[in-house]
Amino acid sequence: MKLEFKEQLLSIVKQFKIDATPINVNEIISGHINGTYVVECADASNKYILQKVNIGIFKNYDGLMNNIEILTSFLRDKYTRMGYEDSDRRTLHIIRTLRDNALYHVDEYGFVWRMYDFIYGATCYQKVESADMFKKVGAAFGGFQRDLADFDASKLVETIPNFHNTVDRFEKLMISIKADKANRLSSVIDEVKFVLERKALCSYIVDRIANGILPLRVTHNDTKLNNIMIDDVTGEGICVIDLDTVMPGSVLYDFGDSIRFGASSAAEDETDLEKVFMREEMFSAFADGFVNALNGALSTEEILDLPIGAIIITLET
Ligand code: ADP
Ligand code: MG
Repeated sequence: MKLEFKEQLLSIVKQFKIDATPINVNEIISGHINGTYVVECADASNKYILQKVNIGIFKNYDGLMNNIEILTSFLRDKYTRMGYEDSDRRTLHIIRTLRDNALYHVDEYGFVWRMYDFIYGATCYQKVESADMFKKVGAAFGGFQRDLADFDASKLVETIPNFHNTVDRFEKLMISIKADKANRLSSVIDEVKFVLERKALCSYIVDRIANGILPLRVTHNDTKLNNIMIDDVTGEGICVIDLDTVMPGSVLYDFGDSIRFGASSAAEDETDLEKVFMREEMFSAFADGFVNALNGALSTEEILDLPIGAIIITLET
């Protein structure tokens, strides 16, 4: 990172209320959506996370930041009441701005920045390393949903409208196919056929929510392995991060996205399809952790539909 850019980042850090002297900033390149930086301070035990919010994707960044603030305050209060000594590292903590006590800072170019306390003693993994690890990830995402079961979902704004609306996505695909703007339809005809043959799947969850068979819950909507901090000592998923897409949704979405990413034998962008298959032991491990953490909160319909959630989210993606 160029020195000049580091200095710009440090001047942004100074807009926030932190009790330490920031001295260095390093980029974390593993995230895909926001720009993420670790802020190091003169006192080495103090670290923070600085993020440039992707305002191209999250147009209502004000609503988004308010979502995160009310969600994390709710969770922190709950964990404190439950007697956890480390309740401050079990959920993200937004650091407010110095000047107006705001949840984010808008710089002179209109970019939006936020800061979080750094979650210590925990690691974010890119790849599922064992079934036991994936079971613990399932337990953490299931636990996140369980802990938000009594949170009033109507307080949340929808940060990306129609995010998992597979009916809407199918309709948009049909429009793109008909328009064939880039003249590339002939080169992807097999892939298009594959999706068209699965049209009925696209309305499955949407219809079942509309019919009241599947309840709306507060869901994370981006339940990838790298959105969870895993405690370095206990191996437990200690903190669910990346809360930009927390919105009302179905449990099937969260379950499905984890399976799509974590139970796959290969990376998301692997092009040699011979290498891509579902690792059944990973599916079972995640399901075990997830369902048990929800501790009787899921209906029979939801439990029976979990595998179809994995199929639909994989098709969607
Ligand atoms: P993106 O939306 O780009 O995926 P994330 O919020 O997931 O961004 O953050 C990217 C990475 O930064 C995470 O995978 C994690 O390694 C790290 N990270 C984010 N927040 C924290 C935090 N509070 N403490 C420690 N590391 C964090
Ligand atoms: Mg992330």
